[in-house]
Amino acid sequence: MAWIFDHSWYAQLRIDPASVDTSGNPQRVDEVRTVAHAHVCAVQPTAFPQSQLVALNQDLAAFLGASTTPSAPHKHGPETVHSDLVNWVTGATWMDAHPPLAMAYAGHQFGQWAGQLGDGRAMQIGALIAQDRQSYALQLKGAGPTPFSRRGDGYAVLRSSIREYVASEALFHLGVPTTRALALVSTGQPVARDRYYNGHVAWEPGAVVCRVSPGFIRFGHFEWFAAQGADDLLRSLADFCLERYFPDCAQADEPYLALFQTVAERTLNLVAQWQGIGFVHGVMNTDNMSLLSETIDYGPYGFMDQYNPHWTPNTSDRPQGRYRQQQQGQVAIWNLMQLANGLFPLVGQAAGFEQVLAWAQEVWPQKEADVFVRKLGLPEGADQDRALIRSLLVWMEQAQVDFTDFFRQISSLHRPEDLVQEHWSPSLIDQWMAWWKDYMDRAAYWGVTHEDRQRVMLTRNPRFVPRNHHLERVIQQATEGNWHLFHDLMRVLADPMNSELEDPYGWAQPKPFDAADTALSCSS
Ligand code: AMP
Ligand code: MG
Repeated sequence: MAWIFDHSWYAQLRIDPASVDTSGNPQRVDEVRTVAHAHVCAVQPTAFPQSQLVALNQDLAAFLGASTTPSAPHKHGPETVHSDLVNWVTGATWMDAHPPLAMAYAGHQFGQWAGQLGDGRAMQIGALIAQDRQSYALQLKGAGPTPFSRRGDGYAVLRSSIREYVASEALFHLGVPTTRALALVSTGQPVARDRYYNGHVAWEPGAVVCRVSPGFIRFGHFEWFAAQGADDLLRSLADFCLERYFPDCAQADEPYLALFQTVAERTLNLVAQWQGIGFVHGVMNTDNMSLLSETIDYGPYGFMDQYNPHWTPNTSDRPQGRYRQQQQGQVAIWNLMQLANGLFPLVGQAAGFEQVLAWAQEVWPQKEADVFVRKLGLPEGADQDRALIRSLLVWMEQAQVDFTDFFRQISSLHRPEDLVQEHWSPSLIDQWMAWWKDYMDRAAYWGVTHEDRQRVMLTRNPRFVPRNHHLERVIQQATEGNWHLFHDLMRVLADPMNSELEDPYGWAQPKPFDAADTALSCSS
């Protein structure tokens, strides 16, 4: 199979003329600049003489048009017959006749307007028409400076690149919308980082992730052009997105409002799905919110161990906890309000946006509860079941049960006594027994038998999620050049509901009760 390129990004977005020289090659990046008069800048990836492909997503590569590599021992082994692919993801050659592109966008970070941000270390190298006949953009993250690099160096470390690669594939296999990971490249060029933001700077191995999505368009794109009063660029970007991603909205009476409504609904659905798997994004700034409602920009994220709605994996967000688990829905709505401000100049009146935002407030608690109702193997939509969930979550917090393990265990539980833990107080046990009885009553009300419940719940409650302490082990070993644990973790994450998979490394085991939390900052 041959590659089919999609050149429309170059034709339809405005490229900053200052970013190319007279022969069409990207200018060297000498300084950071404000880009309010174009959508994108042409950029050149850094050449890394020592770079090495360390992981390649064989299935995704085939989906994008690569011929499969039957000899690859692992689904993410770096073996490939496609020198094209290696050349593209290492930045050795351009994907097509055009240079890579870094995009202009802005955003609100931790509730504050941050002005221009942009792709400071990401660049889109091209787009391919895949087996589903849709177009997918390929983006390198960590391939060097761009005009948006601000104070950063444009590079990324191996640990954060592994974390992005693993989690994005994990969410994909859990059925949660996400950007995907195609390849991981070790650059051979060390990067200096203050990992814990404590003034201690150390050299770490550098890496590049090649990630894939129909489009890396963020809420912050619209915020930027609206804030600059660049209405023509705002409109052409919105029209580009309508045509490519929201053809139904393009036909509506008020296309931009229809776009907003669709994005609002999909964003709430996405975040509800996060809640259902205990995923905390950690940095829900508006520049990290995808217009396509995919999970994007994996940084200090985490899958909850013990259920704690106040938890955030991001130590840079403690003690405030703006992005803690419990807040993710409200934050999504706040971010949607910023997107509304970004789209406002195209519509000129606020009432339609306000209506959608009021609708979002109203439906969020139900959407969130319904995800858990499904996890219990019950049909969605009834208030009694939503109430059952709320009391369960209150109890889970007190009982400090492991989020993933608890739902997996009750999927096949017959007798509530069998789950009781030694350290539970008598009152916790009483509440648990009473809750179970209510649950069984609701199951009986719907005519859900134990067999139905078990069958359904074992497809809705994962056995395997990439917990932060697992990732620590994988990263440590990979840093020493050994990718064994990485491949084994990827193996189980590709089939997260499977009860039969062997688990020699204990990926399904909850974190020991007294083990310390993994400390994660935004340093990456
Ligand atoms: P993030 O928190 O990773 O989503 O990044 C927020 C903003 O900072 C984005 O505009 C990034 O492009 C930029 N950024 C983060 N790390 C770097 C880096 N090492 N070099 C340049 N820009 C960066
Ligand atoms: Mg980001």
